[in-house]
Amino acid sequence: MPTIRRLVCRTFVAALVLASTARAQVVSPHYDGRMRLQPSSGEATASWQMRLPAYTGDSVVLLLNAGLTQVQVRGPLVRQVTRDTSRGLVRLTVTLSPTRQPRDIALEIATGGRLLISDEGINSVGADYVELGLDSFWFPVLAGFPDVRGTVRIELPNDLHVVSGGSVAPEHRERDATASGSAMRVVTISNIGPLPDFTLTAARGMVTLSSDQVRAHTTTADTSLVREMLLVTEQCSAYLRARYAGSTPFPVVDLVLPPRSGPGYARQRFIVVPVGSWQGSPAEAKRKAASQTLFLCHELAHYWSSGAVASGPENWLNEAFAEFVAGRAVRAIQGDSAFARVETQWRARAARAGIVWSPTATQRPDQFASYGKAPLLLAQLEQRVGAAAMERVLHAYMTGALRTTPAVLDLMMRELPREHAEWFRVALQSGGMP
Ligand SMILES: [Zn+2]
Repeated sequence: MPTIRRLVCRTFVAALVLASTARAQVVSPHYDGRMRLQPSSGEATASWQMRLPAYTGDSVVLLLNAGLTQVQVRGPLVRQVTRDTSRGLVRLTVTLSPTRQPRDIALEIATGGRLLISDEGINSVGADYVELGLDSFWFPVLAGFPDVRGTVRIELPNDLHVVSGGSVAPEHRERDATASGSAMRVVTISNIGPLPDFTLTAARGMVTLSSDQVRAHTTTADTSLVREMLLVTEQCSAYLRARYAGSTPFPVVDLVLPPRSGPGYARQRFIVVPVGSWQGSPAEAKRKAASQTLFLCHELAHYWSSGAVASGPENWLNEAFAEFVAGRAVRAIQGDSAFARVETQWRARAARAGIVWSPTATQRPDQFASYGKAPLLLAQLEQRVGAAAMERVLHAYMTGALRTTPAVLDLMMRELPREHAEWFRVALQSGGMP
């Protein structure tokens, strides 16, 4: 499942980096970057101004794509920069003037080289297609992987159409600049709210099909598949908005269907579902799109089900509520037998899961607990209390600010018969199969 693979990937890299790094606290880092990208060669020249507010560490660790061989770091508090390469990444350790007080750190970073991107990865750079995000470390990534805000101005060939998890402004066209024979232009990508990375998909001949709440972007998927994917995404969006949006407008979703295989991922209203060079009959297109319903609803559900600390024991709330709500959306859209197949997936994962949560837990639960056992427990709780009572709990969770397990257990105690809320509390902390 893409979501799990993505999570594992991020966690793996984070563990690797943090293993030998004193953990420094980073609050909402802000980037202001400029990059010139030649997709045909992968050449990328960039300058970044980073601000780390209220920073308490005495060093900053930055990770970069191994192809960015020219790197300079400057800043008023920078004492020393050491550089090594491990596991295919450039790792910069920036030593700062020591202090005990939190202070704002400003760094100027210049990078240059040719982005190195493995063939089987999520990211790629080529003349016709570019996909960049956290996986390629194309921007200076802070160890610990905090969410990032800011703006990146990217100069790239004029004929590449750009979509991003941030906002793309204005109208994909700021100014024309001509250099080395090919017409270039500048696209501005802004993470107005914090996001895990700066993402960008750019393609020649990208086609966009829109429906009411969704824009689908593709270069290879045939029209019947794009329309079916739009329909499924609309159905998920409508299901969730009807229950959890209230009067707050839900943003238009950008659905990218890239011409590659491998994992998909999402950044709130930006969802990537690889379709390869897919071709098929209208009936096959319908089946393929329908098979993505759980994934699409899960990613959209994160618009509400987020905010529990993702690196610790409470992360199961983010994932299990998104997954269970997505399962209920599948039940509403596709019927009981489709929901039974989802429960079978949850059961298979639950068989390999540890406990979901305990009052003394300090670690993030394993992915089989978050994506299997915990949604299965929520489904069993629903069987005990009925759909209407469960919907009251879900509504309170999705629309409220409760993002710790004790707060959610208290909510269940208030909304549900005591014996069932108590059963859930014990089941979360129990080993073995639910
Ligand atoms: Zn998720």
